[in-house]
Amino acid sequence: MLPVDLPDAVRDALLAPLVDHHCHGVRRDDLSRAQFELLIGESRTPAPPGTTHFDTPLGAAIRRWCAPVLDLEPHVAPAVYLGRRQELGAGEVNRRLLQASGVVAFLVDTGLEAPDLLSAAEMGRHGGAAADEIVRLEQVEQDIADTAAVAVDYMDSLGEELVARAARAVGLKSIIAYRCGLDFDPSRPSRGSVIAAANRRLSDPRERLVDPILLRHLLWTAVDVARDRALPIQFHTGYGDADLDMSRADPAQMTGFIRALQPLGIPVVLLHCYPFHRQAAYLASVFPHVYVDVGLTLTHTAAGSARILDELLELVPFHKQLFSSDCYGLAEGCHLGAVYFRLGMAGALGRRVESGEWSAADAARVAHMAGSGNARRVYRL
Ligand SMILES: [Zn+2]
Repeated sequence: MLPVDLPDAVRDALLAPLVDHHCHGVRRDDLSRAQFELLIGESRTPAPPGTTHFDTPLGAAIRRWCAPVLDLEPHVAPAVYLGRRQELGAGEVNRRLLQASGVVAFLVDTGLEAPDLLSAAEMGRHGGAAADEIVRLEQVEQDIADTAAVAVDYMDSLGEELVARAARAVGLKSIIAYRCGLDFDPSRPSRGSVIAAANRRLSDPRERLVDPILLRHLLWTAVDVARDRALPIQFHTGYGDADLDMSRADPAQMTGFIRALQPLGIPVVLLHCYPFHRQAAYLASVFPHVYVDVGLTLTHTAAGSARILDELLELVPFHKQLFSSDCYGLAEGCHLGAVYFRLGMAGALGRRVESGEWSAADAARVAHMAGSGNARRVYRL
């Protein structure tokens, strides 16, 4: 898979086990073609009549790189691929693809948990890997809003529940980018404003939380917990589904909040980032507590992903870059994330060694840091 002229030390480092610091559960059931296609890409809608989501960079990548894992030739037709998937059954397909990724530890965002998705522990069992949980803040808030009777209950229970959930997790995650955008007021909201907002919230708790005051309260409550337990906080930034207003997902828009966290020493991990990965690399280069990962960007841009990784590497400090597959629903996403990470890094590192910019030993060290070492340090695995 990797270029033949890559120095052995770099090849070994790139093929070493990875820590996937951001992923979701994959489907446990056998999928129809329509169900499978809905999970190719982020649109979550069927392709227009007469077309298929296999005609996307990710669709082509599945046929290229996942077919051989199911004992098929590369580039087989979608129907042949899906037929083989049915024949093997979801359990076997998940085991093969998760194990082919060479991931040794999954950090699973359990905020989308559903009966048809593998749990964090099951992801580990199927993948022959360790598994830990990342707690999604907005999911915890929803659970509390569903049960709290009055505003003070809401505030107390939210704090207590975050402490309890954090005790079993290795990190927290915010999707505030989806709810009010990253250009939020970075200050901690006053208690009075939170109580008033919580009373409004509790009058219709089934609604999705979009109130910036309560979202900021949730985030600052999480900051208190993260500081006490030395946990990193992940942020969704950039690329996501159609729910997201992309113009408000540039991580540079949360510079004020990043600055506010600096004295607290809480690691801020920027996920996805694309097409703002250069801004993200910049933030990681100027703030000591900011880390970056382009995650599912590599899977979804597939054949074009090496260029994006190159752009990230223009500026990101080597001790700040992480790997994730961000697989969701399809185990194919996990395997492809690992494939394109390794291919992209091999190209970028190989060129630096060949031109004499770096030694092979330096390139190998950088590959180790990005593939697993940085995640082990940041999440204290
Ligand atoms: Zn994700």
